[in-house]
Amino acid sequence: MPDVIIIGAGVVGSYLASRLAGIGYKVTVCEKKPQIGGPVCCTGIISRECIDTFGISDDVILRHFNAARVIYPDDRVIELRRPEVQACVVDRGALDSMMVKRAQAAGAIFNFNSPVKNIEIGNESVTVTISNGARESTVEAALVADASGFNSGITAKLTACKPGDFVMGAQATVATRGLDKVEVYFDRKIVPGFFGWLVPLSDNKALVGLMSRHNTKGYLHSLLALLTEEKKIKPESVEISVRGIPLKPLARTYGKRFIITGSAAGQVKPLTGGGIYYGLLGADLAAETLHGALVIKNFSAGYLAGYEKAWQQKLSKELRRSYRAKQVLERMTNWQLGKAFDIAVETGMVEAILAAPEVSFDWHGDLAARLVKEKALSGILKLVKSPFHVVKQVN
Ligand SMILES: Cc1cc2nc3c(=O)[nH]c(=O)nc-3n(C[C@H](O)[C@H](O)[C@H](O)COP(=O)(O)OP(=O)(O)OC[C@H]3O[C@@H](n4cnc5c(N)ncnc54)[C@H](O)[C@@H]3O)c2cc1C
Repeated sequence: MPDVIIIGAGVVGSYLASRLAGIGYKVTVCEKKPQIGGPVCCTGIISRECIDTFGISDDVILRHFNAARVIYPDDRVIELRRPEVQACVVDRGALDSMMVKRAQAAGAIFNFNSPVKNIEIGNESVTVTISNGARESTVEAALVADASGFNSGITAKLTACKPGDFVMGAQATVATRGLDKVEVYFDRKIVPGFFGWLVPLSDNKALVGLMSRHNTKGYLHSLLALLTEEKKIKPESVEISVRGIPLKPLARTYGKRFIITGSAAGQVKPLTGGGIYYGLLGADLAAETLHGALVIKNFSAGYLAGYEKAWQQKLSKELRRSYRAKQVLERMTNWQLGKAFDIAVETGMVEAILAAPEVSFDWHGDLAARLVKEKALSGILKLVKSPFHVVKQVN
């Protein structure tokens, strides 16, 4: 009997498998897809900090970035640049494969084509039911870790808690003409509430995507048409993939004999929707607690609560502050966005942020809190906070 069953061979589940198998535990991973390595609805942007912390191999990195263009209402542009690499874009399918191979090398067993349909928590063990068409089987273990991603249906079998907030992300791979910078679009006419992106993967290929609460595909079609008109991307019909992104963590991520980690637990940056790094950090802490539980054979909810305490200690303050910043950003009109970006450029705020060593790609909470306190922005932000304030729109 395995010690731990992990549901989901995404980046988080496979990383967790490698950590536990590396310690010497028997680990079985159940993955519903027939194989890992194909396209995933994810842009794959991660920081140097993430790459170094989790030993992500150079083989999966497609590009390094130290510059980006922010495009805001009325086609105004801010060029951002720092001397050192800020982020990398990885081939997300290749990253997942790398994690699977690492876990297999450590001894984890992967069952592909194995969609988990049910989980029964018993006094002596936990039983997972895999149901693939007519084929049904069960696997028993001491513990189960849910790494099945956002809203997979499996998480609901373990907890009644629902994600506090989420948004939809949509993306397409497009043909380009020699782009070299990431572009980020903050324009309510392009996408209300959130932002869109164009991320070059190579000289002739890029990802175009956006996050929105409604009509996500429709907004992406319009952004694709705009970028085609601007000749940034080549006209062709593309396939659009859509996936949910949690913006708030689950209220409870543990129970008797189980823990929930990664996107399934909502370990995602609320301002950007980036979930690879926080998910891996969550998996690391999950591995520590599961190891502790297996050593002393204590699989109670009380003991496994230690996992939630640990990840909250690491991420909670950051998640709360970034979520508040996201709420303000989401409510800003085009006029307010334009004014705020203009002020940030004119007062040298952008330069100061770029020069501040503590401002990082992964940790936005401090910066968001600082911006909210900026005197120059306070007039605009006051208007945003009050939903009843009448704002004269100029566009
Ligand atoms: C458009 C878009 C762009 C994004 N861009 C970025 C980015 O640039 N950087 C970043 O850090 N994050 C990004 N994210 C978020 C990131 O993709 C997720 O946070 C990340 O994939 C979470 O990893 P995970 O392993 O927790 O879950 P997933 O990657 O979702 O993996 C879950 C796995 O579980 C499997 N599974 C599900 N249900 C079952 C079941 N019942 N039985 C067995 N297996 C099951 C799935 O098949 C899947 O393989 C983006 C998301 C979207 C939607």
